[in-house]
Parts: sequence; C-alpha cells; structure tokens
Amino acid sequence: MRKLLNGLAEFQERITQEERIKFANLALGQKPDALMFACSDSRVAPNIFASTDPGDLFVVRNVGNMVSPCDESGFSVGDVSEAAALEFAVNNLQVKDIIICGHSECGAMAAIYEGLKDMLHPNLRDWLKNGAEALDKFKTGITFNASLSPSNQISQLNVLTQVDHIRSYPYIERKIQSGKLQVSAWWFDIAKAKVSIYSEEHGRYLEIDRDVINYFIEKLT
Ligand SMILES: [Zn+2]
Repeated sequence: MRKLLNGLAEFQERITQEERIKFANLALGQKPDALMFACSDSRVAPNIFASTDPGDLFVVRNVGNMVSPCDESGFSVGDVSEAAALEFAVNNLQVKDIIICGHSECGAMAAIYEGLKDMLHPNLRDWLKNGAEALDKFKTGITFNASLSPSNQISQLNVLTQVDHIRSYPYIERKIQSGKLQVSAWWFDIAKAKVSIYSEEHGRYLEIDRDVINYFIEKLT
C-alpha cells in the first residue's frame, strides 16, 4: 500500500500540462477503441503491452478473463456484470472491437486444471465453471501449442471459449455477421512479455512481431 500511496503523490508531481489538458478533454466523454476482457492478475498490464492511453480501452477485469454465456432469452446464465459491460460498450459506446485477453501462468486456469470439486471457496468455484469447456477441450487432446504447460494450453483454449460465450448473445452475433463488430482473442505470455493473437485463417495463435501485426491490420475493415 505504501507504494500505491507514494504513487498517488508522484503522479501529481509528475503530470505535465499536456497530460492535464488530455484529462480535461477526457472528462467530456469517452470514445474507447475497444472493450477488453482481461484477467485480474496483477501481472497483466494491457495499457503497457498495448501502448494505450487513458480513454483508449474500456476494460473489464475478472478472475480468468471470462464472460458467462446467455440463455435463450439473452440473459446471462452467470454473473451479469460482464454482460452489462458488454451491452454498455457495444450499444452505448459503440465499440467496434472486443478483445478477450488471457495470459500465461494464470491461477484461475491452474485451478481449473487441478479440478474444481475440491475447491473450498464457493464463489470462486462457481465462477470458474465458466472455463469448464476449455478443460473439456484440453482433455480431448485439443491444443494450440502442445509445448506449453497444461494450464497455459487451457488458458489459450479458454480465451476462445470466452469468445464463444460472447457470441452466444444474439445482438453480438448479429453485429458480427453484419461486419459491425469483431471479437479478437489475445494471449499474453508474461515471461516473454509478448502477446499472441489468434488467427482464424491459421487456426492458431500467432506470436506478434511487426509482420504479424501488419497481417492483422490489413484484415481490419
Ligand atoms: Zn489470470
């Protein structure tokens, strides 16, 4: 906490006039480029690895970067807070992109791999069920990179599972089909400080470099 409190003071001492103007303009409203679902893990720092500024990303962070799917009526079958953020970002802020960002060494994925039935924390156990399909896929031998640890393989599968959950919402799927919305799957490798992006065309995650980024930029509409 000491570091955080000192950080508050340092921010005030360091802030430039240019940054003050930027924040004053941001107070008038937000128009983020994307909605991102990322893990609560303290080592995942989307603003740093995506070089974004305040105002660029509308972010939901939770344990395991997950979104509960919806039922036939379009209502979330789990915690509605993610679904609420989805509705607000897509319908009010009109973001054109949604990103699910998973990461390596995710404690949530390790817990899913180890098995939830012995987990003592009831809320956590219930929440992590949102990642159950990723474990099922892993158990049937599906993987994007067999050289990764089991929980990292599950983590990569989980990101795609959450993309499916988001697409279960009819208004989301309609927007995707009409080309007004795109859902991307990112995976952050903490040790390498590198993001991989899932490519439908390649059927796997592509570790980013300038060429890979140019490939994804060219595919933007
Ligand atoms: Zn995590």
